This record gives sequence, C-alpha cells and structure tokens, in this order.
Amino acid sequence: MTTGEKAIVSVYDDLSGLSQVGPKRIEALKSLGIETIYELLTHFPFRYEDIKVKTLDEIEDQDKVTLKGQVVTAPVVHHFGYKKSRLSFKLAIEDAIISVTFFNQPFLKAKIILEDEIAIFGKWDRTRQNLTGMKILGSSNNQEDFSAIYHVNKQIKQQTLLNLIKQAIDSYYEAIPEIIPDYLSETYRLMSHKEAIRAMHFPKTDEESFQAKRQIIYQEFFLYQVRLQLVQLNRKMKNEGIAILYDVDKLKGFIATLPFELTEGQKKVVNEICRDLRKPYEMNRLLQGDVGSGKTIVAVIALVAAYLGGYQGAFMVPTEILAEQHYQTLRGLFEYSDIKVALLTGSTKTKERRELLEQLASGDLHILIGTHALIQEDVHFSNLGLVITDEQHRFGVQQRNRLNEKGNNPNVLYMTATPIPRTLAITTMGEMDVSVLDQMPDGRKPIKTIWNKSDKLENVLEFIRKQVMNGQQAYIITPLIEKSETLDVKNAEEVHRTVSDYYKGECTVGLLHGRLKSNEKEQIMREFQENKINILVSTTVIEVGLNVPNATVMVIQDADRFGLSQLHQLRGRVGRGDKDSYCVLVANPKTDNGKERMRIMVESTDGFYLSQRDMELRGPGDLFGNKQSGLPDFKSGDIVRDAIILDVAHNDAIRITREKDFASNPAYGNLRTAIEREHAKIKRLQ
Ligand code: ADP
Ligand code: MG
Repeated sequence: MTTGEKAIVSVYDDLSGLSQVGPKRIEALKSLGIETIYELLTHFPFRYEDIKVKTLDEIEDQDKVTLKGQVVTAPVVHHFGYKKSRLSFKLAIEDAIISVTFFNQPFLKAKIILEDEIAIFGKWDRTRQNLTGMKILGSSNNQEDFSAIYHVNKQIKQQTLLNLIKQAIDSYYEAIPEIIPDYLSETYRLMSHKEAIRAMHFPKTDEESFQAKRQIIYQEFFLYQVRLQLVQLNRKMKNEGIAILYDVDKLKGFIATLPFELTEGQKKVVNEICRDLRKPYEMNRLLQGDVGSGKTIVAVIALVAAYLGGYQGAFMVPTEILAEQHYQTLRGLFEYSDIKVALLTGSTKTKERRELLEQLASGDLHILIGTHALIQEDVHFSNLGLVITDEQHRFGVQQRNRLNEKGNNPNVLYMTATPIPRTLAITTMGEMDVSVLDQMPDGRKPIKTIWNKSDKLENVLEFIRKQVMNGQQAYIITPLIEKSETLDVKNAEEVHRTVSDYYKGECTVGLLHGRLKSNEKEQIMREFQENKINILVSTTVIEVGLNVPNATVMVIQDADRFGLSQLHQLRGRVGRGDKDSYCVLVANPKTDNGKERMRIMVESTDGFYLSQRDMELRGPGDLFGNKQSGLPDFKSGDIVRDAIILDVAHNDAIRITREKDFASNPAYGNLRTAIEREHAKIKRLQ
C-alpha cells in the first residue's frame, strides 16, 4: 500500500482486521463480550502477577517469583504415565545452584540452552531449593515488572488473549481516541487514554499502573456523567411535557386547611416541585427525606396542584398496607373538597375495580392511589399529569417507567426515605433533579436506641409493659429468615404466641405478616391505629411508610440480620409523635461487621449517614435489596472506592455540558462522538 492509500483504521472496527482471528476465535471473543477492537483494548486484567526478577534472599517458601540465572546442566525429560512428564535442569544464580522443574511441557526442552541466561517464573520450594516453573520469560531482561492476568474462559487462553491485545495495541494505538478535553487531563495530570490502555495491560511499574487506572476510571465516570447530564438538559429543552397552571391562591387555601404548619423544609421542596409543575417540560424529580420528615403531605400538595390545574394524579406505593394508609390520609384531607380519590390494589373487588377504571378513563376520578395494580395494562387515565412513586427504590426501573407511560409525558416525582448516598444518587439518578427534605417537624424527640443481648428479653418485655400502661404502643419485629417467607411467618407466629402468653389478660397482642389476606391486614392495622391492639408482632411488612404516632417502642429481634438502612426504616415507625420513643435492638452478632452495625445504630439517627455506612459495609448493590435499582455496571470504576473521582467527574460533566458552545466546540468533538456511540449502544440493548 502506498502512503496515500493508507487504510483508515478505527478502534470501533470489528476484530477481523487482526491476524490469526478467524470465525472460531471471533465467537470465542464474543463470549467474553469482546466484539470490537476497543472492547478488546479495554478488556483489562483483573490482577497482575509480580514478575520482577528477585534474588534468592528476598524470597519466601512457596512464593511465586521470577528467578534469573545461567543454565548449568542440560535439560532432561522423564516420561511417566500417559502424557505425564517432568523436565529438569540446574540453574546457577550468583553463588547458588538451584533446580528447576517443569511438568508436562516436554517441548520446552528446546528453549533451554546450556550456558544461556534465562528468567523463569514459578513457585519456590525453599527446602528442596527447587523452582517449579510456570513460564519462561525469555533470556533477555524482561521489560515489565508485572504480568497481566485476564478473565478468560475455556475457549480462549491467557496467552492467546494477551497476544491479540498486544497486536491490537501495536496496530491501533494511534487510533485510540482521546475524549477527555485536554485542559481536564492537564488539570488532573492524567496520562493520555492511549498510554493508559497500554499501561493497563503492560504496566512497567506500580506507579504507572496506578496512573493508568486513574485515567481509565475518571474517563468511565466522566463519560457516564456527561451522558446523564445531556439526557437531563434534553428533557428540559424539549418542552413536550405538561405545564400544570394551577391557581396559586387555591393551592394556598388548601395548605391553610392542613392540621399543621408546614416546616421550612417542606415549604422549600413544595416550591421546587410546584415550580417544575408549571414549566412545560416533564418534571423528573427525586424527593429525599429521612423517615418521618413528612413527605406524604408534600406529595398530597403536588397532587392537589395537579388537580387544580385540571390534571389527574397517580400515587404508587410498594405495599397494600401503605396504600390503604395513604388513601385514608387523603380522604381525610379532602373531606370538604370536590377532589375524588380512589384506591386500587391487587385485592380490589372486580366490580369495584371496573367502576373505578371507568371513572378514571372518563376523568371523573382525580387521584388514584395504589400498589403495582396501577401499572396493569387496562388502567387508563383520561389526562394523567403527575405521577408520584413513594419509596421508589422498592420498584424496579421498568415498573416506574410503566406508570409514567400511562400519561403523555407526565410530571414525575419519586420519593424515598432511604437517603441515597451522594455517589449512588449521581450514578443511578444523575438525570434527575433532587429535592432534599432535611428537617423534621417540630416537637420530635430523638429516638433512644438500645442494644440488648437476647438473654435480656424479659427486661424488654417489662419495659414494653410500662409503656403500654401509660397508653403507648409497641412493635416487635421478628427476624428475617434468609429467602423464606414461610419460615418468617412461622417465626412471627411463634413469637406472637410467646408474647401473648406473657401479657395474658393485660395487653392485646396482634400479629401481622405478608401471608395474611389483604382485608385481614387492614383489619389489624386499623385496630392498631385505634389502639385496640397494644403490641404488634410483625415481620418486616411494616418496614416502609407506616404511620402510627402513638407507638413509642420498636423492638427488633435478631437485629444483626438487617442492614442499617432497613433498621433505620423500621426504627422510623416510632418517634412520630411528641412522646419519648425507644428502639431496642435484640441481637447477639457473631461477626465484627454485625457488632459494628449495632454500634452505629445506637450512635446515629441520621439516615444519610446510615445509608452511607450501609453502602460501605454491604456494597451499593445490596443497599436497596433490589438489583433493578438502575445501578450501572462500571467496568473499572467502583462508586464506593472511587467516590472522589466520581464526584469530580460529575461536577466536570455538569460544567461542560452547560457551556454555550458544548455542541459545536471542536475540543469536545471526540467526547460528543463517544456519547453518541453510547446512546446508540443503549438503544440497541433496549
Ligand atoms: P415520611 O416522610 O416518613 O413519609 P410522613 O409523611 O408519614 O413521613 O409524616 C410523618 C408524620 O409527621 C405524620 O404523622 C404527619 O402527619 C406528620 N407531619 C408531617 N408534616 C408535619 C408538620 N409540618 N408538622 C407536624 N407534623 C407533621
Ligand atoms: Mg412515607
């Protein structure tokens, strides 16, 4: 080929341009998720072996090491058994002589030449002064101190993969695009992406390896964050959403009828939400507020605003108990208004359901509260303007989207009482606006938390008795038994029996669990709300949302089986009135992690702090107990370990995407192309 005809190569080419890659190998690479050159280049090792040449006095028995010396005896091969052999020879290293053995690789004999210098990686046996060879590293001084180890499978070997990567780096090095704007690379002293890719596979030193990772992780986060920011900006520019132009005075009039004054925090987030509602874009907002901060009323006000603007509202919650409770709250608040609200759950009777759906489709019904039942196919709104999802992390991304699709680009508000650590929020919800309700209604007293060993249960029951005698109520939560609702229920029944016997003739003890029929659950909840039941033994079905201000004691059995966020949610069922409240954790944790969690719970009542610690102790995927929470699968970055890099990338992405000439500035050309590529990939996968 003459220079003028030089083929233009791109790292997004498929793999057929590499030599020794036929259809079979292409299949094998595909099974590792590698279809393009770039995917091959970014198939990074998961660890490195230290192959630096060592001297005999710096190594320990059984170390995997590289030793270098002169071959002083000719290699001899012994065959024993079928396909089994041992190759051995002696190596002089300075004054010492050691033996080297390779098993089942007789063909290596040709590479071992008497009197040559040779470096061998293997396992050192100190007593026998023998190195069991694993790899011959060649006779010349080896270039790198580390050797990369890759995830491979049966169809492709380490060495094959390494050779292909080497080839790809040689042929495509110059084609690797630099997407991070130069001034950012300079500010953070990042190496180029080209260099980083090379160094990820063939690091010369520890420092170089560290620097390569820094570039790769920053780039991964940066690209992701820029994409989310663009999604957010696009939504706001499109103006295809619904502008809800409600009568402000009428809304104020409604707020004035509430039984309490809104907190400053509530006023602030109500303003943020209402400002969005009036705009012609789709609101996409997350309301974070600790347990008991009063999010329900904020949702209600938004729903009333939608109603006043002529639109319907939907309010989806994760459990029937919670749906029922919200329904009662709203009915009470709307008693003297014309707003029509209905409840739809899995146990709504067929006839009632049919009537309700008719009214919904005709627009006679204004607000629909319910569980997953809301996203069933035959649920049609006449003009849905606002969708609210309470305890949003309990729903998968798809469930939330399905509800949003019931309207024509409706405004969306997600609420959560599991504060999402910032790093998690900016990855899973980076395309959303966030409102934070960071204040509790006045008069709340901090919940006193005590950690008790299980042999003190009697003391706990005595303590409950005193509270009940004073007119208060208590919850006793029974432990979570790994993945078995049946066992959970059995356990709850047993505890219920024991506790009932203990208080015989003194207090009424109720039992609540997920296996009860919906009307049975409602019945029990109502009796608890009316203080006909003094003590409620329950599984975790009461975890989210429940509001009985007269309850002042929360006992959690085997508390170490729960995560911090979940414990905090459970604890949040008390401390909702103006009386002193208590949370008793009953646990004999066996692990340090378990003990640590109990201590943290006793020390802190700050939901944000607790979810951060929870994420650190259990990992981000576990935090919500929901794999569908939309957590992206980063290849190199780790949102906990690399939180600082993530935060920096997030801020850079916000700044850059808001620059006036972002869409035309040539400095961002590669970045824009990379984003388009990502978008196209996501579309393909959907
Ligand atoms: P959460 O944020 O956990 O969903 P809720 O909305 O259930 O909290 O509110 C907890 C309790 O606080 C409820 O009893 C509610 O009526 C009460 N509440 C909400 N806002 C206020 C306020 N501004 N002043 C006093 N009590 C309030
Ligand atoms: Mg709530």
